[in-house]
Amino acid sequence: MTSTSKICRTCKQEKPLDEFHVDRDKLDGHKSQCKECNKEARKEFYEQHPGFAAIESRRKRYKLDQDEYLKMVESQQSRCFICRDERKLHVDHDHTTQKVRALICRDCNLMIGYAGEDPLILSAVIQYLEFFDDSLEDENE
Ligand SMILES: [Zn+2]
Ligand SMILES: [Zn+2]
Repeated sequence: MTSTSKICRTCKQEKPLDEFHVDRDKLDGHKSQCKECNKEARKEFYEQHPGFAAIESRRKRYKLDQDEYLKMVESQQSRCFICRDERKLHVDHDHTTQKVRALICRDCNLMIGYAGEDPLILSAVIQYLEFFDDSLEDENE
């Protein structure tokens, strides 16, 4: 017997199946929360995670798995992976392999881009800055 309706986990109301988003991981192929409650939950999530909406549109472009993406946002607390600033974030990805790396801000994204995504250049930049930074030497004394 296939049911055409189910009870929403959140609002406890019985609604037709097409009132639930499709979820292939579920037995009946639909989420346990109705579309309306899902929308509410998303709204709340957006309020708790500023900057999320902007990165979400980019996520779609890079076809990042939803769970993977949510884990990234959670673990980074909506902060740039590199400078730790809470800013508008980009989904950074390896331009050769298209593999997603992390969520980073525009400045850090540009920095990587200008360095040609080359770790050798970036570590040379660190050596360069440290070499000419007198305050570092003072600290060591
Ligand atoms: Zn509901
Ligand atoms: Zn940054």
